[in-house]
Amino acid sequence: MEPLRIDGAEGEGGGQVVRTALGLSLVTGRRIRLVDIRARRGRPGLLRQHLTAVEAAARIGDARVEGARLGSAELDFAPRGIRPGDYSFDVGSAGSVTLVLQTVLPALLAADAPSRLRLFGGTHNPLAPPFDFLARVFVTTIRRMGARVNLELVRHGFFPAGGGEVRAEIHPSPLAPLHLLQRGRVVRRRAEAIVSNLPLSIAERELRVVGWEDAEARPVESAGPGNVVMLHVESEHASELATGFGAKGVPAERVAERALTEAERYLAADVPVGEHLADQLLLPMALAGGGGFRTLPLSSHATTNAALIERFLPVRFLVSGGMVRIEGARGR
Ligand code: AMP
Repeated sequence: MEPLRIDGAEGEGGGQVVRTALGLSLVTGRRIRLVDIRARRGRPGLLRQHLTAVEAAARIGDARVEGARLGSAELDFAPRGIRPGDYSFDVGSAGSVTLVLQTVLPALLAADAPSRLRLFGGTHNPLAPPFDFLARVFVTTIRRMGARVNLELVRHGFFPAGGGEVRAEIHPSPLAPLHLLQRGRVVRRRAEAIVSNLPLSIAERELRVVGWEDAEARPVESAGPGNVVMLHVESEHASELATGFGAKGVPAERVAERALTEAERYLAADVPVGEHLADQLLLPMALAGGGGFRTLPLSSHATTNAALIERFLPVRFLVSGGMVRIEGARGR
């Protein structure tokens, strides 16, 4: 069959196009040809982290692959089935393991036997979901759709040293539609600031800026220095985690302010689904064939992802007034 041609320069034009396309290729069995990969990024083409996602998808999908090289702008990917089992993937840098996991998760949920993954690399990276977001927000939400997934953070990995480890256990689970329309009452706000190979006073300064009562500054073991502030908002019907990443030359106060601004924006909007969860929920909801949620104005990540998903699956995303509805083929 002719491959589905996907232009990596369209829309947001980042790595998510690669990951969503690989994930959907596995689930549908459809061969894909990606061109102009990450054309809108400073360092275009496939980076280490994307290559690990390609490798993971290729092993799990027993795929024939062309173009899987560092910097490659084109990729041909032809899966031959889904092979659940025990796998180990190493990003080999501080590249995000959570993004590799998200690439293969839909296929392993659709498989006919359980899988166990060990993933090595970065666990708390800027521009990717930190492990805690994946566990407490994304997986918590898809569990309500029926997904049986357990995650464990074995060791933190920060940019640039990496060296983190995440384990995942994924059981075959059909996904059911979920409607996330109300957040309900906020039942808990918890601030956590962690440091690795850095003074604990950094985390303490961050928590002073945040000013939340339920707060913990904590040192963690990791291969290199790292710092992250995580603000978890738990509500009756939803969960969100806003993150600020420490970086060389950025004062701790700025790191905390970034996380706080994101958390306050979410709280003020009174919606259940935050900006990042919105783009990440589109795929599981499309696989469920229905559902919907209220959220903040959609990011370009979300609109690009929606358009790509519609090319693979018989679904349509209807967006209006902060509401996203997923309509399956039968609903048309
Ligand atoms: P890309 O930029 O195309 O590689 O995609 C990045 C992905 O990471 C998107 O799904 C974002 O929603 C997600 N992401 C980025 N930053 C965060 C964050 N702080 N918390 C949760 N998810 C994030």
